[in-house]
Amino acid sequence: MKAAVFKEKQDVSIENVPVPQIEKGQVLVETTACGLCGTDRHIFQGEAPAEPPLIMGHEISGRVQETGSAISGLSPGTKVAVDPNINCGHCYHCHRGEINLCENLQAVGVTRDGGFAEYVAVPRENIYTLSEDTDLSLASLVEPLACCLHGMDLVDIAAGSRVLILGGGAIGLILAQLAKITGARTVVVSEPEPVRRKIATEIGLPSVVHPDHLSDFLDKERINKIDTVIEAVGRMDTFRQALKYARHGGQVLVFGVSPQKAVTEVSPFAIYEKELTIQGSYVNPFVTEQAVNLLESGDLNLEQLITTEVQLEEVPEIISTPPGPRDLKTIITF
Ligand SMILES: [Zn+2]
Ligand SMILES: [Zn+2]
Repeated sequence: MKAAVFKEKQDVSIENVPVPQIEKGQVLVETTACGLCGTDRHIFQGEAPAEPPLIMGHEISGRVQETGSAISGLSPGTKVAVDPNINCGHCYHCHRGEINLCENLQAVGVTRDGGFAEYVAVPRENIYTLSEDTDLSLASLVEPLACCLHGMDLVDIAAGSRVLILGGGAIGLILAQLAKITGARTVVVSEPEPVRRKIATEIGLPSVVHPDHLSDFLDKERINKIDTVIEAVGRMDTFRQALKYARHGGQVLVFGVSPQKAVTEVSPFAIYEKELTIQGSYVNPFVTEQAVNLLESGDLNLEQLITTEVQLEEVPEIISTPPGPRDLKTIITF
């Protein structure tokens, strides 16, 4: 089969490799789409702990090709989405049900071969079946959508509350839509790139502003108390902005993935005096079923977030090129 193989730092090559041999509890999935994520770029740049040779790609949708001998009730041809995260089941956190914090966490496309290939082997527990009329390209968003749902689980968005999202990328625009359907009355998105602001407006988010105009905008609209600020960029300035804009007693959700070594100054006094809650959000425990349901409901506007569709052969080039403002979500289709 054809695969994009991560050979070493800054080297991904298209190669012919054997189709994975599945174990008795695994499913061989014929990949139809796989999202390209910031994590893949980090691995490519050698900034993430992933061992080459590796086939990356963890935002996978496809069809069941073959099932292991221990599996019943899953027919070949069934459309599926994949939860890439594999927890060990026996560490301190797994025993507490905190499976995303597993000390031995593995992931398809990160610690074992993933979806930048025509076929991928996936444990049965990580397979979620889709309805036959679900668009498989769209279904590659199940994993990022699940991550966003976990973030929403960790904050308390009350009906009528005010939410500020810092960052209008694909993730920021998913989170903004989720905040709306969760019950926020006001959802403001702060994003410097005009093309992203335009997409945000087109998908039904009315309050989208340039970060330089954010203060004035909030003043003008009398939005002077933001209950929840979601940092969806992963930068130090946006993190500090999040602390600044959250109201007294408010919450800050740290969702964007910042560089591992980045540090910034914060005022402990401000956190104390404002009684802020700062909450991290890491991957997607127990929410993939909900992500599938939500995606299939059509209640979210996700189509427009997929701005770039490429073939497997283009992976080496696309992964080495920083995404432009126009590229919200890039997916590889087969
Ligand atoms: Zn991802
Ligand atoms: Zn564990």
